[in-house]
Amino acid sequence: MEKNILLFDIDGTLVKTGLSFLRKTAIADAISQLSNNYELGIFSQGFYNIQTLKLRLTNLYSYFSKNLIFISHNKVGLLQSIIDKNSDIIIIDNSKKIQKATKDLNIRFILASNKMTKEELLKEINLSNPL
Ligand SMILES: [Mg+2]
Repeated sequence: MEKNILLFDIDGTLVKTGLSFLRKTAIADAISQLSNNYELGIFSQGFYNIQTLKLRLTNLYSYFSKNLIFISHNKVGLLQSIIDKNSDIIIIDNSKKIQKATKDLNIRFILASNKMTKEELLKEINLSNPL
């Protein structure tokens, strides 16, 4: 059976960035575990090389399927083509703008917050998509 797909935003969802630091969020600690049951991808705004560098520096890059890395300066514009090719997806992002865009397109969505724990994320994914 095909694994369902989880697409993660990077900034504010998987990593926190500051002037002199780059740190994983609590949510990012769920990635290894989730990779056993889901196919993992990226849905991020910005430059491909910079965004994937953040994943490499936090040792997260290897968990993501290379054909599911969607990085653009216009994320919302990518949504339709993503769901045209991949039906069973959940997007996990800290952006309310993306939340609204996914709602309009009927895409399952989990709003990440900087207070969200690994356990809370796993619970939300299970509620949204029982295995
Ligand atoms: Mg973000």
